[in-house]
Amino acid sequence: ESQLDVARIRTDFPILHQVDDEGNPLVYLDNAASSQRPLSVIGCLNNVYQKHYANVHRGGHRLSAESTDLYEEARRAAQRFIGAKSENEVIFTSGTTMGINLVARSWGDTNVSAGDEILLTEMEHHSNLVPWQQLAARTGAIIRAIPVNSEGLLDLDALPQLLTERTKIVAFCAVSNVLGTINPVEQIVEVAHQVGAKVLVDAAQAVPHEAIDVTKWDADFVAFSAHKMLGPSGVGILYGKEALLDAMPPFLGGGSMIDTVEIDHFTPAMLPAKFEAGTPPIAGAIALKPAIEYLESIGLAEILQHEQSLASYAHDLLLNVPGLRFLGPGVSEKAGIVSFTIDGLAASDVAAFLDGHGIAVREGHHCTLPLHKKLGISASVRASFYLYNTREEVEKLADSVKTTVAFFG
Ligand code: PMP
Repeated sequence: ESQLDVARIRTDFPILHQVDDEGNPLVYLDNAASSQRPLSVIGCLNNVYQKHYANVHRGGHRLSAESTDLYEEARRAAQRFIGAKSENEVIFTSGTTMGINLVARSWGDTNVSAGDEILLTEMEHHSNLVPWQQLAARTGAIIRAIPVNSEGLLDLDALPQLLTERTKIVAFCAVSNVLGTINPVEQIVEVAHQVGAKVLVDAAQAVPHEAIDVTKWDADFVAFSAHKMLGPSGVGILYGKEALLDAMPPFLGGGSMIDTVEIDHFTPAMLPAKFEAGTPPIAGAIALKPAIEYLESIGLAEILQHEQSLASYAHDLLLNVPGLRFLGPGVSEKAGIVSFTIDGLAASDVAAFLDGHGIAVREGHHCTLPLHKKLGISASVRASFYLYNTREEVEKLADSVKTTVAFFG
């Protein structure tokens, strides 16, 4: 059972208190796509723009100094939150996608050559597939993938064959955005390191829901997005081990990332500025700090437990719906994500019907076409829970799914 005072938590999220034209209260179950924000985060954005906003690191004036201080404070908050050893290991990006592209370009182009192997998994989001495919196309490297087994777990027995002397990097998600599967990060990192491969962890679905420690993971790179963890959109973090980031060339070129520039060449700045070309998402980065503080004030372990209890309740209520099949492992092995198909019904019809009852879920392939192909389906419906969701909302979801099935019967 959940320990959270959800009624109190909900008072911090004004967007949740709305009704549609038919008077249905909003039931927001699309948190894996993007979460909502508490008043403290919205207030921080407002406060920055009203009182402290200027470009960072540039002008020698008071506002710029204030804005820079707040920006660097947010970096330190993120550093502490993920257990990074140094601020130099915490790069502000525009999100998970940019973080992975940065590594695939900057680290990949320098360290991967023809015939080398890049090991992914069948459950990756397109943002952890396409940048590696592009790297492979540039370099002649070969992509391999850890299979997903029939229970929706990574088939780790396949690892000894898949990890070779030629494996340069293993890139995988800590938590699947469709199956909800929680992958054994430390175990995979350890075996990858045994063959000398580097590891990138796509933590987009992990950081919002569990206390992570990148140093304990011993991951080389970790990417995540603020918008899925109560923070602003357009901001993310790339963590990288300092020695690796130090040795990598800059990804984007422009202002702020240089030490000196001549007309025909430049020398890059030190970390972390080297990877933060141009004006960063200043206010958004600053407002990541109250998002982190909000999560910490509730407790990550309590949040995960709450989500899992809602996922478990959803499983119980949906279990006997005719034709309904859950994707992914049993509730004890996954985060608060419940994806399913219903025989004979298009996922888009189910989602449209639920939307008619005020229930927001995601339908489609959720940016995981290879996973859907592997599962032999073209689309699924996904309900994803967060700290502000209630048991009553789960009941509404289940009732609405049952009405949908009866309607199309
Ligand atoms: N990886 C996973 C597992 C995700 O769920 C998402 C977001 N759907 C991403 C990567 C991409 O994140 P963003 O769109 O914020 O860059």
